[in-house]
Amino acid sequence: MCGIVGYLGKRNALEIILKGLEKLEYRGYDSCGIVVYGEKLILKKTVGMVKDLKELFKEKIKADIGIGHTRWATHGGVTEFNAHPHFDCQKNIFIVHNGIIENYQELKKILVNKGHLFNSETDSEVIAHLIEDFINQGDNFEASVHKTLNLIQGTFALLIFNKNEPNKIIAARFSSPLVLGIGKNEFILASDPLPISLITDRMIFLDDSEMAIVNKEGYEIKSYVNNLKIDKKTVGLDLKVKTTEKEGFKHYMIKEIFEEPIAIENTLRGRILKDKTGTKIRGLEEIYHKLKNLKRIILTGCGTAYYACLYGKYLFEEFLPYIIEAEIASELRYRKINYDQETLVIAISQSGETIDTLEALKEAKNKGAITFGIINVPGSTIARTVDAGMYTYAGPEMAVASTKALISQITALILIMIYLARKNLMKPEEAKNILEELEKIPDKIRYILGQESLIIDLAKNLINYKNFYFLGRKFSLPVALEGALKLKEISYVHSEAYPAGEMKHGPIALIDENFPVFVIAPNDSLYQKTISNLEEIRARKGKVILISDKFPENKIDYLISIPSSLEILYPLLTIPSLHLFAYYFANLLDLSIDRPRNLAKSVTVE
Ligand code: GLU
Repeated sequence: MCGIVGYLGKRNALEIILKGLEKLEYRGYDSCGIVVYGEKLILKKTVGMVKDLKELFKEKIKADIGIGHTRWATHGGVTEFNAHPHFDCQKNIFIVHNGIIENYQELKKILVNKGHLFNSETDSEVIAHLIEDFINQGDNFEASVHKTLNLIQGTFALLIFNKNEPNKIIAARFSSPLVLGIGKNEFILASDPLPISLITDRMIFLDDSEMAIVNKEGYEIKSYVNNLKIDKKTVGLDLKVKTTEKEGFKHYMIKEIFEEPIAIENTLRGRILKDKTGTKIRGLEEIYHKLKNLKRIILTGCGTAYYACLYGKYLFEEFLPYIIEAEIASELRYRKINYDQETLVIAISQSGETIDTLEALKEAKNKGAITFGIINVPGSTIARTVDAGMYTYAGPEMAVASTKALISQITALILIMIYLARKNLMKPEEAKNILEELEKIPDKIRYILGQESLIIDLAKNLINYKNFYFLGRKFSLPVALEGALKLKEISYVHSEAYPAGEMKHGPIALIDENFPVFVIAPNDSLYQKTISNLEEIRARKGKVILISDKFPENKIDYLISIPSSLEILYPLLTIPSLHLFAYYFANLLDLSIDRPRNLAKSVTVE
């Protein structure tokens, strides 16, 4: 959700913070704001994107400290007043906040009764007034922040600047991500490592209940619960800023779709045994001794990552002797589940910060389950919370709509399945057969991407339709769900997915000549069944788009051809075509593809 950046040091704080906010804009982009301090204090906010904020700074500004924010509104509409930074009555204390202060209403009531005047409808603003209130009562700045942090409930990554102590930023976190970048006499704080790479590659990930007091000479990290100093390890991150550029593509999304083959190659690298009879997954090796009595695996995630979980369920069921479940994380967390040492919970998240997934995971861990993560962003909160895990190495994903991350999550699941299956009943030749074919998939995707002009034509032909169905069975069901989600996320047209066999139980009622239906039916064990469902649609005059490597004799309205493969690997070939379709459809409508309305990447609020 929101992105926050703070800087203090010898460079131009305004430039660094604006650049940092641009790198975080995928997290929230309904409004933004910044406060910098140099010769004087300058505060500017605007509805819209960071480029609109930049426009407000025509003249050169000298500032060596400041904090900034891109917002994804949770409390209070998208207005300039509600944009961060928020401030106290005296305009001395400025804060930027990512998260939700759950008890803000009661705190606000108390503060209003004491005479505090509020400028916004946000939950966040109470923080600035609380700090002010403690200062008014005689506490110093740090003690006031400390007391405030112990009063607020909910989730937060916070940066706080006090005009009366202009050499200092105080940062704190609970549940929302926050990283401190350590340069030479300069420091940067941000929601993720991307802005950190603007000045340094040495950083510290703050953990829950920690606060950092940072000034130009150094920093101190403490627990805001017991006020004890904490020694934290700095980590180096190999984050090549270059990989976050668009590199000639019109949008990040299309660039990232074209990176799907390489994402698979990166996920596979070093994880296939030389003779290809199995896989090597360090995280699983580390916890394997705990998996001796394994009985159940629960896969959990949100949005597109949940579809990876669903794929994982079908895959694992096919090859492993355990009970396998796939659960939407925001539901899993609040259900009464019996966790124990015989249950492995696998959390899938691109960002590693998805709060619903994180909370479900913590719950499972606290109740005794073994936990494992499939994560893209190194060092992220989920990666640090699980007992063990594996990175997908898909590279930074900037477009809000996830594409290459899903492809790499599916690849990771196949590697995990083979690792566990080889410890069970899978024969070396079977593993070899799958892995050899898996290694061919990147080139097969390149072939599909080479046919993008056909998909552009298809998008042109369908551009005036307002409703779409996506159908598939078994391994193609998560594919259908992904096709429908991607199209609605970036095109705002109504699209829904169903198991193909389910149509006749209700949804087919909507079919007429104005309702195009994507049927995902590769030549697998369910091909004939799905083709029968396709005929049922055609019999009701529905327009059909068939994605397959085998085409029936009857004339189909539109065909998307994919190379042949193994049943379990087809999703890696059918998903890229649907990603291309969603992209080109939205592109024809000239929409804001990388930053669709109402959505944010890395969803760090519940
Ligand atoms: N709750 C804050 C607001 O609505 C921050 C939202 C967020 O972190 O996305 O302004």
